[in-house]
Amino acid sequence: MTSPVGSAPTPKERRPKQEQDPASEEVVEVAPGVLRMQLPIFMPGLGHVNMYGLVDDRGIAVVDPGLPGPRSWRAIQKRLKTGGFRLEDVHTVIVTHSHPDHFGGAGRIAKETGAELITHSAFATFRTSAGEARRRASLSEEDAARLELEAAAAAQYLDLGPDDDRLLDPLRADEDDLDRTAASVAWAPETPWGGTKHVRPSVAKRLMFRALRLLYAPPNPTRRVRHGEMLQLAGREWAAVHTPGHTLDHLCLYDPEHGVLLSGDHVLPSITPHVSGVGNGADSLKSYLDTLDLVAQLDGVSLGLPAHGHPFADVPGRVEAIKEHHHERMEEIQALSQSLGPATVVDISHELFPERHWGAMAESETFAHLEHLVADGKAERWREDDMLVYRVASG
Ligand SMILES: [Zn+2]
Ligand SMILES: [Zn+2]
Repeated sequence: MTSPVGSAPTPKERRPKQEQDPASEEVVEVAPGVLRMQLPIFMPGLGHVNMYGLVDDRGIAVVDPGLPGPRSWRAIQKRLKTGGFRLEDVHTVIVTHSHPDHFGGAGRIAKETGAELITHSAFATFRTSAGEARRRASLSEEDAARLELEAAAAAQYLDLGPDDDRLLDPLRADEDDLDRTAASVAWAPETPWGGTKHVRPSVAKRLMFRALRLLYAPPNPTRRVRHGEMLQLAGREWAAVHTPGHTLDHLCLYDPEHGVLLSGDHVLPSITPHVSGVGNGADSLKSYLDTLDLVAQLDGVSLGLPAHGHPFADVPGRVEAIKEHHHERMEEIQALSQSLGPATVVDISHELFPERHWGAMAESETFAHLEHLVADGKAERWREDDMLVYRVASG
């Protein structure tokens, strides 16, 4: 089994996070009847996604079959083969949550094998227009491969100017089309916290969104499960554990017999999962912190199997560290509010994050923390000229 610890870090040297490691071709049994298969992904800060295979006498169930697109599809088939399986052996696909690096291959596997496709009952993704569906259906394997490369290239060059010639531009989309695509994939230019001047995504980013949207057909689940429902996988019972926070529809799977938790993006071994304040429930940070406690308290968990990074033993310890990060962030916000006085989400996010991280992600995370402080009675919020303004109480 891959060491969850790794080698000791060199002091002062910032080591890349394990979640950034490129996908290994190895297939490793990490728990009885549970195979770890790594698939390549191309997203900022992430180098692979773990597709877990749960083996039983009917064949294999897979959890989180990676991004869509031909490169990931080839990797899925290759890993299954290495593990001694054919595509037809897949009888179940489980998707932990509605992010493309988790649901990507699910629809295609279900279509080609008739596998059951399981998600949490709240599973929802961005809608796809009829036009996009038609275009996607008619994409050749070659075009799909090209789009995938463009998405990857664009992702790497998000910060480049529109005229940078390292950015491929074979999509030749008109500007309006790109804007519509970007707005509908991320969120409308109007954010809940106000400020219509919200950064218009760069051309690179809009190209990436367009490529992603064409490629990423969200799957249709054939079975939606609720918290506490039992699933028969790898020859034993697993409980569905609803863990909203990273997304509203996030699902973990818990095997009480062997103390295994498939933790998806809810608990990652070395990075702190993103908690967005947009489209994620009223107080997403509260949901997140509450369900971190929930998984830390599960009986006898001795192995966490995350969607990114290596298996890790101490789930409660990791939960503590992530909670600590959010508490520190709230204290930082509290201190900032004292020095800034009444401030907007944008103002506070600019103080909280280095300039290279300014923008939508930083603001939605700041918004989630501020809304949590309001819900907790520790901050007040009002509206001034369409902008939400916050003041956090001292101490
Ligand atoms: Zn995710
Ligand atoms: Zn993920």
